[in-house]
Amino acid sequence: MTDLRIAEIFGPTVQGEGAVIGRPTVFIRAGGCDYRCSWCDSLHAVKSEYRHEWQKMTSQEIWHKVELLSSSVPLLVSISGGNPAIQDFSTVIEMGKQKGYQFACETQGSIAAPWFNALDMLVLSPKPPSSGHEVNWDMFENCLSQAMYKPNISLKIVIFDDVDFDWAYDVAQKYSNLPLYLQPGNDNVDADSTFDLLQNQQKYEWLINKVNEKKWYNAHVLPQLHVWLWGNKRGV
Ligand code: SF4
Repeated sequence: MTDLRIAEIFGPTVQGEGAVIGRPTVFIRAGGCDYRCSWCDSLHAVKSEYRHEWQKMTSQEIWHKVELLSSSVPLLVSISGGNPAIQDFSTVIEMGKQKGYQFACETQGSIAAPWFNALDMLVLSPKPPSSGHEVNWDMFENCLSQAMYKPNISLKIVIFDDVDFDWAYDVAQKYSNLPLYLQPGNDNVDADSTFDLLQNQQKYEWLINKVNEKKWYNAHVLPQLHVWLWGNKRGV
């Protein structure tokens, strides 16, 4: 059986963003990503220099850890990364579903994993221009096709500046059938530095004002709750 590269498994904590914000969850953070966003705050799950920290685990070992953390009481399991779509989580999902757990996955939408349609929630998070990446919309469409609209699908976009905001608005018009969650970006990505809560709150207020000026009333505007609570600390 193929091992998966896992950066960390932790929880229960609460989901800090998107459609299920505030919901108790265990996180499985996959190691490895095909992107290198300029403001990535999960570099320990992205860069190869952290690879020695990642654990090679079988699906059974991953599932055992999730059950241990959740005391075998079914809850929402959030698969994130890195880009989890690089790896095969189908067996983990299958094992969890048999026990009544639910599964959400967040990915930038650059790789369509065959197991997307086994999820309960798929959060597609296309990266705005400030990331330094250009979205491959054909690949993004493949992700939607692979999910076959079986899970609840939503969009989550982080916004750092005016250019990102206008870009996100255009994306939202194109995918107006999908619920959309906007969040101010956190560019304070150093895990050891003191997190500037006031600055982050001001950015949230800036984003709310932008959305209202644009009369973009079907957007959900959220703070990154986990960042407000724990800054860039890992494993919470
Ligand atoms: S896609 Fe996500 S995990 Fe990968 S580099 Fe960008 S922000 Fe980091």
